[in-house]
Amino acid sequence: MAEPDPPGFSPEIEVDHMAVRKFKRSEQRFDANTYPYLKCREQHEWEFYDGTILENEGEVHIVMKCANCTTKRPRVLSLRVSTPGKLQASNYKYPKDYHVQGGLTAHERGEVRLHNALALLAEHGITRKKKRG
Ligand SMILES: [Zn+2]
Repeated sequence: MAEPDPPGFSPEIEVDHMAVRKFKRSEQRFDANTYPYLKCREQHEWEFYDGTILENEGEVHIVMKCANCTTKRPRVLSLRVSTPGKLQASNYKYPKDYHVQGGLTAHERGEVRLHNALALLAEHGITRKKKRG
């Protein structure tokens, strides 16, 4: 007679742990077909979001927001005569799903450029190379 299985153990189920690990890795990695902010990887669509003029402090605060990915770019510009428009502070506040684990590789940046270029060509009805002559 066989020994009883320990609790929680099912011998008929063979779990593919490698597949789970591979899936988790691929979730973190970049996929040009599903990544929602391809355009923003080349150029954001900045629109005015908020701002104020702090005359006594000699500063202009302006916040731009991307219409596509919602990234915000707050900036502080100098209002002083000696340094007009000088960038005093600047940063970016990205949406949670914007960042790609480990950043994009050169290959992936190429995929982004190609995807955006082909999308623009398709948008303008250019799908094939014109014949010369
Ligand atoms: Zn954006």
